[in-house]
Amino acid sequence: MNQYKNILLTIDFSEYDKFVADKASDLAKQLNAELSIIHILDDIPMPDTPYGTVIPLDEDSSYPMLEAEKTQLKQLADNLAIASTDRWLIWGEPKQEIALFAEREKIDLIIVGSHGRHGLALLLGSTANGVLHHAKCDVLAIRLPD
Ligand code: AMP
Repeated sequence: MNQYKNILLTIDFSEYDKFVADKASDLAKQLNAELSIIHILDDIPMPDTPYGTVIPLDEDSSYPMLEAEKTQLKQLADNLAIASTDRWLIWGEPKQEIALFAEREKIDLIIVGSHGRHGLALLLGSTANGVLHHAKCDVLAIRLPD
Protein backbone atom coordinates (compact mmCIF):
# COMPACT_ATOMS: atom_id res chain seq x y z
CA MET A 1 0.00 0.00 0.00
CA ASN A 2 1.25 3.48 -0.82
CA GLN A 3 1.83 5.55 2.29
CA TYR A 4 -0.06 8.78 2.75
CA LYS A 5 2.16 11.78 2.01
CA ASN A 6 -0.20 14.75 2.20
CA ILE A 7 -2.69 14.72 5.05
CA LEU A 8 -5.41 17.33 5.53
CA LEU A 9 -6.77 18.02 9.01
CA THR A 10 -10.22 19.63 8.99
CA ILE A 11 -11.32 21.66 11.98
CA ASP A 12 -14.61 23.34 12.85
CA PHE A 13 -13.54 25.17 16.02
CA SER A 14 -15.64 22.87 18.16
CA GLU A 15 -14.57 21.44 21.51
CA TYR A 16 -13.44 18.27 19.69
CA ASP A 17 -10.75 19.89 17.55
CA LYS A 18 -7.87 19.08 19.90
CA PHE A 19 -8.80 15.39 20.07
CA VAL A 20 -8.92 15.11 16.26
CA ALA A 21 -5.84 17.31 15.78
CA ASP A 22 -3.66 15.27 18.14
CA LYS A 23 -4.52 12.06 16.28
CA ALA A 24 -3.84 13.69 12.91
CA SER A 25 -0.52 15.03 14.12
CA ASP A 26 0.57 11.64 15.52
CA LEU A 27 -0.35 9.90 12.27
CA ALA A 28 1.49 12.47 10.13
CA LYS A 29 4.61 12.04 12.28
CA GLN A 30 4.45 8.25 12.07
CA LEU A 31 4.11 8.37 8.28
CA ASN A 32 6.51 11.27 7.83
CA ALA A 33 3.73 12.98 5.89
CA GLU A 34 3.06 16.68 5.40
CA LEU A 35 0.15 17.90 7.53
CA SER A 36 -2.08 20.77 6.37
CA ILE A 37 -4.91 22.31 8.33
CA ILE A 38 -8.11 23.84 6.98
CA HIS A 39 -11.18 25.61 8.29
CA ILE A 40 -14.05 26.55 6.05
CA LEU A 41 -15.78 29.77 7.01
CA ASP A 42 -19.43 28.83 6.94
CA ASP A 43 -20.73 30.74 9.91
CA ILE A 44 -19.91 34.36 9.03
CA PRO A 45 -20.94 36.47 6.06
CA MET A 46 -18.32 36.64 3.34
CA PRO A 47 -16.29 39.78 3.93
CA ASP A 48 -16.28 42.32 1.12
CA THR A 49 -12.59 42.18 0.29
CA PRO A 50 -10.47 42.52 -2.83
CA TYR A 51 -9.33 38.90 -2.59
CA GLY A 52 -11.44 35.83 -3.40
CA THR A 53 -12.65 33.08 -1.13
CA VAL A 54 -9.20 32.02 0.08
CA ILE A 55 -8.49 34.30 3.02
CA PRO A 56 -4.87 35.47 3.28
CA LEU A 57 -3.65 34.72 6.79
CA ASP A 58 -0.80 37.19 6.82
CA GLU A 59 -2.91 40.30 6.11
CA ASP A 60 -5.04 42.09 8.68
CA SER A 61 -8.64 42.78 7.76
CA SER A 62 -11.09 45.14 9.39
CA TYR A 63 -13.54 42.32 10.13
CA PRO A 64 -13.42 41.30 13.81
CA MET A 65 -15.19 37.97 13.21
CA LEU A 66 -12.71 37.03 10.51
CA GLU A 67 -9.76 38.05 12.68
CA ALA A 68 -11.14 35.90 15.52
CA GLU A 69 -11.30 32.84 13.25
CA LYS A 70 -7.77 33.52 12.00
CA THR A 71 -6.53 33.66 15.59
CA GLN A 72 -8.16 30.31 16.43
CA LEU A 73 -6.63 28.66 13.37
CA LYS A 74 -3.22 30.13 14.14
CA GLN A 75 -3.29 28.89 17.75
CA LEU A 76 -4.16 25.34 16.76
CA ALA A 77 -1.65 25.30 13.88
CA ASP A 78 1.10 26.75 16.11
CA ASN A 79 0.47 24.03 18.72
CA LEU A 80 0.86 21.37 16.03
CA ALA A 81 3.89 23.11 14.46
CA ILE A 82 2.15 23.24 11.07
CA ALA A 83 4.03 25.39 8.54
CA SER A 84 2.43 28.73 7.71
CA THR A 85 2.15 27.68 4.05
CA ASP A 86 0.02 24.69 5.11
CA ARG A 87 -2.70 26.69 6.93
CA TRP A 88 -5.91 27.45 5.08
CA LEU A 89 -9.00 29.52 5.74
CA ILE A 90 -11.50 29.36 2.91
CA TRP A 91 -14.97 30.80 2.71
CA GLY A 92 -17.74 28.50 1.49
CA GLU A 93 -19.66 25.29 2.01
CA PRO A 94 -17.52 22.91 4.12
CA LYS A 95 -18.02 19.54 2.45
CA GLN A 96 -17.61 20.92 -1.07
CA GLU A 97 -14.69 23.20 -0.34
CA ILE A 98 -12.81 20.50 1.59
CA ALA A 99 -13.21 18.01 -1.26
CA LEU A 100 -12.23 20.59 -3.91
CA PHE A 101 -9.23 21.73 -1.92
CA ALA A 102 -8.06 18.15 -1.40
CA GLU A 103 -8.19 17.48 -5.12
CA ARG A 104 -6.42 20.71 -6.04
CA GLU A 105 -3.64 20.27 -3.47
CA LYS A 106 -3.17 16.55 -4.12
CA ILE A 107 -4.15 15.55 -0.60
CA ASP A 108 -4.24 11.78 -0.18
CA LEU A 109 -5.94 11.56 3.22
CA ILE A 110 -8.55 13.85 4.75
CA ILE A 111 -9.10 13.64 8.51
CA VAL A 112 -12.47 14.65 9.98
CA GLY A 113 -14.03 14.29 13.38
CA SER A 114 -16.89 11.78 13.35
CA HIS A 115 -19.07 14.65 14.46
CA GLY A 116 -18.60 18.27 15.37
CA ARG A 117 -20.85 21.27 15.51
CA HIS A 118 -23.51 19.76 13.24
CA GLY A 119 -23.64 16.14 14.25
CA LEU A 120 -23.81 15.74 17.99
CA ALA A 121 -26.63 13.21 17.86
CA LEU A 122 -25.24 11.31 14.90
CA LEU A 123 -22.66 8.58 14.45
CA LEU A 124 -21.33 10.55 11.48
CA GLY A 125 -22.07 14.28 11.29
CA SER A 126 -23.38 15.97 8.16
CA THR A 127 -20.04 17.49 7.16
CA ALA A 128 -18.14 14.27 7.82
CA ASN A 129 -20.69 12.36 5.76
CA GLY A 130 -20.62 14.98 2.98
CA VAL A 131 -16.82 14.94 2.77
CA LEU A 132 -16.92 11.16 2.47
CA HIS A 133 -19.34 11.47 -0.45
CA HIS A 134 -17.56 14.29 -2.28
CA ALA A 135 -13.87 13.49 -1.76
CA LYS A 136 -11.89 11.54 -4.33
CA CYS A 137 -9.21 10.52 -1.81
CA ASP A 138 -9.41 8.48 1.40
CA VAL A 139 -11.19 9.96 4.40
CA LEU A 140 -10.45 9.01 7.99
CA ALA A 141 -13.15 9.79 10.56
CA ILE A 142 -11.84 10.04 14.10
CA ARG A 143 -14.43 8.53 16.39
CA LEU A 144 -15.09 11.08 19.10
CA PRO A 145 -15.86 10.15 22.68
CA ASP A 146 -19.60 10.25 23.49
P1 AMP B 1 -20.02 17.75 11.46
O1 AMP B 1 -20.26 16.63 10.49
O2 AMP B 1 -20.37 19.11 10.90
O3 AMP B 1 -20.65 17.50 12.79
O4 AMP B 1 -18.45 17.83 11.69
C1 AMP B 1 -17.61 16.69 11.64
C2 AMP B 1 -16.19 17.09 11.32
O5 AMP B 1 -16.15 17.74 10.03
C3 AMP B 1 -15.54 18.09 12.28
O6 AMP B 1 -15.00 17.42 13.42
C4 AMP B 1 -14.44 18.64 11.38
O7 AMP B 1 -13.36 17.70 11.28
C5 AMP B 1 -15.14 18.72 10.02
N1 AMP B 1 -15.77 20.04 9.81
C6 AMP B 1 -17.05 20.40 10.10
N2 AMP B 1 -17.26 21.69 9.78
C7 AMP B 1 -16.10 22.16 9.27
C8 AMP B 1 -15.67 23.43 8.76
N3 AMP B 1 -16.47 24.48 8.72
N4 AMP B 1 -14.39 23.54 8.31
C9 AMP B 1 -13.56 22.48 8.35
N5 AMP B 1 -13.90 21.27 8.82
C10 AMP B 1 -15.15 21.11 9.28
